[in-house]
Amino acid sequence: MNLLIMGPPGAGKGTQAEVLVKELNITHISTGDMFRAAIKEGTEMGKKAKEYMDKGALVPDEVVIGMVKDRLSQADCQAGFLLDGFPRTVEQAAALDATLQDMGIKLDGVVNVEVPLEKLMARLTGRRVCKGCGASYHVIFNPPQAEGKCNSCGGELYQRSDDNEESVGTRLNAYIEKTKPLIDYYEAKGILKGINGDQEISKVLADILAAVK
Ligand SMILES: [Zn+2]
Repeated sequence: MNLLIMGPPGAGKGTQAEVLVKELNITHISTGDMFRAAIKEGTEMGKKAKEYMDKGALVPDEVVIGMVKDRLSQADCQAGFLLDGFPRTVEQAAALDATLQDMGIKLDGVVNVEVPLEKLMARLTGRRVCKGCGASYHVIFNPPQAEGKCNSCGGELYQRSDDNEESVGTRLNAYIEKTKPLIDYYEAKGILKGINGDQEISKVLADILAAVK
């Protein structure tokens, strides 16, 4: 089965990707890992990508697509794959479609993990860090024993500036704005699977499996 997974920051996409590839016995292809591997192995596309990255420039779509093509041609993708972190734009999605068609590969589904905006805000703004030892807590998911105090060193907990409501809100709105056309694109193709990510991890996984099978 060949799948793609999408979801805003804080939706738990990473966790779901991990459990999903195990459950379906397919290969997880995160764009970051793919970039690092191509550069390390010194593939033709990896070298090209590195040239742009060294200059601090954006790696052009045709290079990224070239890397994706190389990666999907490898033996561990023959039984299926889960693309994660790519495509990010409609242009990339169209280029990916053309490449997959060339390769005789069909994309079976696009999993979109959805969580209401206010829940994402709560998840993403809940992080607290210890001033003393740097330990990380979450006011909902991993609260300290005493409010505002570190369990291990008793240090004061604070909220990092990029975890505050304004920064998180800006980040989430940028994601939503950028991703909306992509969601519409896959919806129009009839392969978008909207999944309620505001549930227990095992329930989210069950819903994904039911939607893609
Ligand atoms: Zn501490």
